Amino acid sequence: MTARLTILASGSAGNSALVECDGVRWLIDLGLEPKELDARLASVDADWSQIRGVLMTHRHSDHWKPKSLSRCWTSRVPVYCHRDHAPAFRLGCPDFRDLEQARLFRPFVGERSIAISENWKCRPLRVRHDGGATFGFRFESPQSAFAYAADLGCWDRGLLERLADVEVLALEFNHDPELLRQSQRPPWLVRRILGDEGHLSNEQACELVGEVLKESTTNQLRQLVLLHISRECNSGELAAETARATLAQFGSAAEVFAAEQHEPSPWFVIGESLPDNGDRSRTPLVQAMLF
Ligand SMILES: [Zn+2]
Ligand SMILES: [Zn+2]
Repeated sequence: MTARLTILASGSAGNSALVECDGVRWLIDLGLEPKELDARLASVDADWSQIRGVLMTHRHSDHWKPKSLSRCWTSRVPVYCHRDHAPAFRLGCPDFRDLEQARLFRPFVGERSIAISENWKCRPLRVRHDGGATFGFRFESPQSAFAYAADLGCWDRGLLERLADVEVLALEFNHDPELLRQSQRPPWLVRRILGDEGHLSNEQACELVGEVLKESTTNQLRQLVLLHISRECNSGELAAETARATLAQFGSAAEVFAAEQHEPSPWFVIGESLPDNGDRSRTPLVQAMLF
């Protein structure tokens, strides 16, 4: 009943992640051109023939590339997304109509869970963002859970409850507000990013992590993965430092990993058996180092 997650790419130049539940592989987002996506998949020993489905967060161009969406048609891989994503996909990717006709377009039904594998299901989590209907995902088995949420401008109690009690939390840490204000970005863009439908700052993400830890009934968070880090208005080091301070404040021993734009992350493993002493918080992430 184990699962694992690797972030193939994260940031404004393209986003994609690979999930494996009970050996069944799914992609989250297709924000890389086909050649690059193939290369990233190959570097984690994966390829399109293994992909059982694709989950789409939203329609911003850093999350889907028309030619990569076409690969879903040529590989006959179903695409799970919100109904509102379809017009943009139809317009940008002529093969999307074939996908629809072949019933490989599978729209979300509210936040109803999608079967991922024998033991795992995925619940789409609606978030606020200016890309139209936008979603994060909570994956759960009867024994464990993990979650992925990038591209959200704010969060509320409903979201934090859905992110509670996960072993791995992949969450947007987009910008440092001060660096953003000092950047060369035009005022409208700064306002957009800072707004409730923009992107989470390090501070906002840390507040959410703190609330998630308070809400969680067990101290099982083992890995916090920082997503969509701005190259100009943040850094992996700064985001990680902020995240570590919050984890320490709440007594969490979770490790922090800042996802990169240009190379896949290690695999993060979920649902491993507990060590003999049952203290999950002390389990080293050996797998993360090996892959
Ligand atoms: Zn977006
Ligand atoms: Zn994005």
